[in-house]
Amino acid sequence: MDLATPLTYVKGIGPARAAMLEAKGLATAEDLLSYVPFRYEDRSNVKTIAQLAPGEMATVIAEVRSAKLSGFRRRNLGLFEARFSDSSRAILVCKWFHGGYLASVFAEGMKVAIFGKIEFDSYSGELTILHPEFEILSGDDEDGEASLHTGRVVPIYEAAGKLTTRILRVFTHRILESVSPVEDYLPESLRARLKLPGRWTAIHDIHFPPPDSDLRLLNAFRSQAQFRLIFEEFFWLECGVALKRSKARTLPGIAFEVTERVREKVKLMLPFKPTDAQKRVIKEIADDMKAPRPMNRLLQGDVGSGKTIVAAEAAVIAIENGYQAAVLAPTEILAAQHAFYFRQILGKLGYVTVLLTGSFSGREKAQLKRLVAEGLAHVAVGTHALLEKDVEFHRLGLAIIDEQHRFGVLQRLGLVQKGVHPDVLVMTATPIPRTLAMTLYGDLDVSVIDQLPPGRKPIVTKHATSDRIEQVYSFMKRQIAEGRQAYVVYPVIEESETQAMKAAEKEYQHLSREVFPDLAVGLMHGRLGADEKEAAMQRFKEGALQILVSTTVIEVGVDVPNASMMVIEQAERFGLAQLHQLRGRVGRGAAQSYCILVTEKMNDAARERIRTLVESTDGFYISEMDLKLRGPGEFFGTKQSGLPALRIGNILRDPDILELARREAVDFIAKPPSEDDLRRAVAYIRDHWQRRYGLVTVG
Ligand code: ADP
Ligand code: MG
Repeated sequence: MDLATPLTYVKGIGPARAAMLEAKGLATAEDLLSYVPFRYEDRSNVKTIAQLAPGEMATVIAEVRSAKLSGFRRRNLGLFEARFSDSSRAILVCKWFHGGYLASVFAEGMKVAIFGKIEFDSYSGELTILHPEFEILSGDDEDGEASLHTGRVVPIYEAAGKLTTRILRVFTHRILESVSPVEDYLPESLRARLKLPGRWTAIHDIHFPPPDSDLRLLNAFRSQAQFRLIFEEFFWLECGVALKRSKARTLPGIAFEVTERVREKVKLMLPFKPTDAQKRVIKEIADDMKAPRPMNRLLQGDVGSGKTIVAAEAAVIAIENGYQAAVLAPTEILAAQHAFYFRQILGKLGYVTVLLTGSFSGREKAQLKRLVAEGLAHVAVGTHALLEKDVEFHRLGLAIIDEQHRFGVLQRLGLVQKGVHPDVLVMTATPIPRTLAMTLYGDLDVSVIDQLPPGRKPIVTKHATSDRIEQVYSFMKRQIAEGRQAYVVYPVIEESETQAMKAAEKEYQHLSREVFPDLAVGLMHGRLGADEKEAAMQRFKEGALQILVSTTVIEVGVDVPNASMMVIEQAERFGLAQLHQLRGRVGRGAAQSYCILVTEKMNDAARERIRTLVESTDGFYISEMDLKLRGPGEFFGTKQSGLPALRIGNILRDPDILELARREAVDFIAKPPSEDDLRRAVAYIRDHWQRRYGLVTVG
């Protein structure tokens, strides 16, 4: 048996069990060996019940004395209660609410390992655990395997379908017994310097820790074996990133000149004084543009921090050097906004900006494309339409991509290929911790705008349940009476706009006829044509509309400083990042802005999201909460993000190891101990990591 052997070859795994494992992404022996315990129990010297103290987390091994659905009068509560005792003869009571299903699990005399928080029930005077984890120890194990589950530090696995921690432990053990030791690919010098155990030892020990193991280290994921395997996973990932990055660095690029003339033009264009953060960032960008290799820079900044003007400054540099700039936006509304903005500020310098989206007619498009191809347009703003094959640039020098997380790496490439190694500036409002950014956008350098333009008042965010909507409306009336404008937003559920559109339409009728008959109410959703959308947006911008009812098409980029109020309906259905983005549409002017989150039914996760938003307007904090609430897998979600599902490492729990691995990987790729070491590493990444990480191929 080797690592690639399918799990069906393991004794005890038939088709049904294989399917349960497959559902967890576990198909081969290596997969199951990578399925590491999330917790360990020391069952080598467990306390007796008599030794337990209330308040502690403890493991107890005891026998079932009695078990029953307890004598509550309301039986449907289904409180299941089991009483245990051990050699100390003391009693431990375990309780499970809605535990009726346990009636067929526990039988008198069974030996059980129980884990949970010990409490003292002052009513009965007994030691109790509510909803303990448990593992039944008496069973039909084959010879020798019973010792896997007691008398040692025992690994606890997350169940896979109906496969319990116990059976997973047995399978893992069987694989470890029959697989021949695996090769260690980590460079020897690195292993020696960091004093890392060998790969095979680490794999073995992470499942079955040696007898003298420190339980606290294990449960903090910092045993030597855990450290080694976490480090290794991050190291290869970061090596892949570093390789991709160094490859991008060797391409020839455009060395733009930033002369006094260019500086004058920039000054002429600026409608306001840039913040210190904007100044710092534009300097980083200008330095990159001057260098004779392609810029690959990520510009991060919270919603409203003023990324667009920075992009416009970069565009001026490109244009003054005789090149064109392209601006790629994820939605038509955002593209239209950008085109409007660029026309306004770059028009002052006599530059021509064109807008290219899917909703123009064939003839219009052809005309626009000609302008771009002949170099008569200096800036082309657009949606995916900009990526079409027949869009050709006369001389593309700068590609600006807004709201990166909406575009795949390949699309980024699609735009870049319209020039000869143009400079690339990617903008995103999803702030992520720096190390993560380095990993996620590993081939990009990162600039951060960490300061809002002056005079902004933090948005006041409130939560209201839908039965209090009348109060929300009267507050809206008062705001509008003071000359302000308001958004009312409906969620888009699962990418389908239809439902949200209906809700928005209905609400539009209701608000315009019944609630605010004297006010001008507008409607905006994804099904409107581009010109209808633009018209609605324009009327709202001019103040002809006081209220704009919308689906989340306004999520990104819309910029109307006089709009100081946003009501988000069914806020419980939005994700944190999306709510934060939406909220960023207000708070752009001098007036105090408000965001009201209206909810219907909430679960715990939704309540936590709402609480986070009411409490904070800090994008970094919100982003971190989002990461915590959803977990890295969901947070980075789509494959396009390029960050894979990690198996052992966890970027939330292990940022220190990630940072170390990143430093070591960068050093290793830049100065490998020998050509041979590097060749081996590259081959290993290509064979083992390319599929998972798609790192080495793209870019
Ligand atoms: P985002 O980073 O979300 O894309 P924008 O570029 O749309 O932010 O800027 C938000 C608003 O702030 C715009 O109305 C913009 O004109 C304004 N703004 C940006 N920078 C400054 C500044 N330094 N001083 C004053 N207003 C600014
Ligand atoms: Mg923006």
